[in-house]
Amino acid sequence: MTTNTTYDVTIIGGGPAGLFAAFYSGLRGLKTKIIEFQPYLGGKVHVYPEKMVWDVGGVPPLSGAKLIDQMVEQGLTFDPTIVLNTKVTSVTQDEQKIFHLHTNEGAIHATKTVIIAIGGGILQPQRLELEHITHFEQTNLHYLMKPLAYFKNKDILISGGGHSAMDWAAELEPIVNKIYLTYRGDTFKGHETVIKHLLSSKKVTSFFETNITKFIPSDSGDTIEQVELTELHTNKKHQLALDDVIVHHGYIRDTSLLQYSPLPITLHDDYFIAGSPSSESSVEGIYAAGDILHHEGKLHLIAGAYQDAANAVNMAKKYIDPEASRQAMVSSHNDELKQRNKAIIKEMMGRGV
Ligand SMILES: Cc1cc2nc3c(=O)[nH]c(=O)nc-3n(C[C@H](O)[C@H](O)[C@H](O)COP(=O)(O)OP(=O)(O)OC[C@H]3O[C@@H](n4cnc5c(N)ncnc54)[C@H](O)[C@@H]3O)c2cc1C
Repeated sequence: MTTNTTYDVTIIGGGPAGLFAAFYSGLRGLKTKIIEFQPYLGGKVHVYPEKMVWDVGGVPPLSGAKLIDQMVEQGLTFDPTIVLNTKVTSVTQDEQKIFHLHTNEGAIHATKTVIIAIGGGILQPQRLELEHITHFEQTNLHYLMKPLAYFKNKDILISGGGHSAMDWAAELEPIVNKIYLTYRGDTFKGHETVIKHLLSSKKVTSFFETNITKFIPSDSGDTIEQVELTELHTNKKHQLALDDVIVHHGYIRDTSLLQYSPLPITLHDDYFIAGSPSSESSVEGIYAAGDILHHEGKLHLIAGAYQDAANAVNMAKKYIDPEASRQAMVSSHNDELKQRNKAIIKEMMGRGV
């Protein structure tokens, strides 16, 4: 099924690069759509909702979750069309030079230009391989972190022994009542001081060379009440009563979009788009922004993603309308924003600000 409207710009990926591209594309008067695989916008920042981010220009230190809220608000300023839960599987081009984005759901999205902002690909947490446990993800089995306050005074189990699992254990240790750690390996991996602190804490009990082998549900069947751990070498079982289970076994990365592209998009290291500092790819009309873009001066920060996004939009504008100015205007020159500024100033004056 092909969607009826041909958009000026379709952005694949709704992370920092995709969201700023959507804002900037609206600013330049382009009809814009974002297609995002996850059921939410914000990209990889969802991996670190509680971490404080200090290095986004002009923004005081704020949590990842707050940054997502602000990026989404800005990204939606000009009402782009948002398509969630949808994976773009390939990009083709017809004889009229219109691009067609094919999705996992069989839909085809037509667009004059494409901005690829897929970061490190689709990240899916590595899930536990136990049967009939997915419903616990709605209650007390977590693959993505929740706000720290949720875990206050609780007894929790963290499965995993890598950097991420250790960092979360260290963040949670002062807040929770008790932490059990279970890991397949015989030593944790992470910062030495973090591990030393965890191993010496009275709140932490560690089980090495163990696996989660069973969840024992509450009477209602909705929540996990106890967890069975099994020692790998002796088969000895441990049964723990707890409130929540956090699993940090790393991520599976789906990077298939560009690898199987029928268009000749030149790649760097078999994954990144080998682009220009102006965000062009090797295919006219296709641009790249954020972590997926590679060139010599590429800045691997959210701040860098914003510059890529503005460059990509400017190039897309020029491709669609060769008479358009190469450089963007500043936001205060945009007619729609001028109207909104008036309303904001009026409201501020009303409040005596
Ligand atoms: C733990 C951690 C801490 C960090 N801390 C900082 C920091 O303090 N400051 C900083 O500047 N940077 C930080 N970063 C890096 C920053 O998060 C990334 O540079 C930024 O998220 C890149 O944005 P992006 O939009 O390019 O990609 P992403 O954020 O990866 O977003 C890409 C989006 O594209 C979607 N997608 C992928 N493939 C498809 C497809 N085929 N179809 C549809 N959708 C698709 C994905 O689901 C995802 O939502 C950190 C990263 C990590 C992992």
